[in-house]
Amino acid sequence: MVAQEIRVRFAPSPTGIPHVGSIRTVLFNYFFAKRSGGKFILRIEDTDRARKIEGAVEAIQESLKWLGIEWDEYFVQSERVSEYKKYADQLVLRGFAREEAGAIRFTVPKEGSTSWIDAVGNKKIEFKNSEIEDFIILKSDGFPTYHLANVIDDHLMNITHVIRGDDWIPSTPKHLMLYKAFAWVPPIFAHVPNVLGTDHKKLSKRRGAKSVLDFRKEGFLPEAFLNYLMLLGFSPKDDREILSREDFEREFELSKINTAPAIFDEKKLLWMNGEYIRKTQKSKLKSQILEFDPTISSIPNYEQYIPLAQTRMKTLSEFSEFVTNNKEVSLTEEQKMLTQKLKEKYPQLKPWDATNISQATIAVRDEIGASTKDVYTVLTGRPAGLPFEQKLELQGQGGTVDWLEFLLSK
Ligand code: GLU
Repeated sequence: MVAQEIRVRFAPSPTGIPHVGSIRTVLFNYFFAKRSGGKFILRIEDTDRARKIEGAVEAIQESLKWLGIEWDEYFVQSERVSEYKKYADQLVLRGFAREEAGAIRFTVPKEGSTSWIDAVGNKKIEFKNSEIEDFIILKSDGFPTYHLANVIDDHLMNITHVIRGDDWIPSTPKHLMLYKAFAWVPPIFAHVPNVLGTDHKKLSKRRGAKSVLDFRKEGFLPEAFLNYLMLLGFSPKDDREILSREDFEREFELSKINTAPAIFDEKKLLWMNGEYIRKTQKSKLKSQILEFDPTISSIPNYEQYIPLAQTRMKTLSEFSEFVTNNKEVSLTEEQKMLTQKLKEKYPQLKPWDATNISQATIAVRDEIGASTKDVYTVLTGRPAGLPFEQKLELQGQGGTVDWLEFLLSK
């Protein structure tokens, strides 16, 4: 027997830029398909014209591309409207639906129940049919509702597994009724538990949840972001946390999806991003830093800071913070004194190297009883940063004295 090809889809409505939860669903679909050499389909569900947001389709595509997720096929529902109408009419003819003020409504059989075995947790989910109201499948504007278009497309596109958020569970009995009315075999359903914030509440835009493109803007690496999101609801057999795309392709299974909601912890993501930065090759990191902020190339010696910064950067955006001084800083009287003393001391250092810089700076710091935080504030304009003696060595003696003079002249 020839095994059936796995075909899955991500079917977003273009109502905004994808957030963490929907991208996690994309990744589960994608790796599930790739594991068996199957197909991942991107389908834009834009039949609700009122909710459509300009630029959302582009943002969805851009988010997927950033993460290196390529779709094998692409469909847009608004281009397929005549198809849905044809099927809706068929249901009316066969007595499963009725015309009503220009719209078409599905007539739910009130007896019995509708159930399926969900692939997440391998559990039976059942709804009494009497709890489900007759529902519109085609609106008076001729556009299908989500339920109709979704089922028709999943059927026509030979979708084998519907992997989506568990907030769609209440829609599934309606979908199963449609499959039954059309006499089509339904796909396997896998409803993935939601992603919650650290406060255990659903991540939502209204409560400040960020979009995927926000994370790119903040200097996260796509590989790290992908890795972290995959672990929201999926745990590999052992306790590994750093996994590659190949690992996920090899290991991801629907039966390994956790049945409890996952918690999105941005601190953990930051940690993971730092781990990825540390294991990135220097030359690659350099191009990532420049791609993130092309103005970096105008900083003198910026390349020499990379190995130093790599040991403690958590995001790409931190690089410019580490190598540039903050001119807006305002100093306390004590910090001004520290600045003055360092400005007198530094020109005497020979050679200008990390050991001498460290010794001289600590001596001045202790002499006036300042703190290490004061030292960083004076030397960089920020309370912390790269090991100052190494940074100053790279910055040069002249450049450092110029900076201290600038501070005193403010
Ligand atoms: N268009 C629906 C959404 O916006 C698709 C849900 C599904 O995957 O069936 O999420």
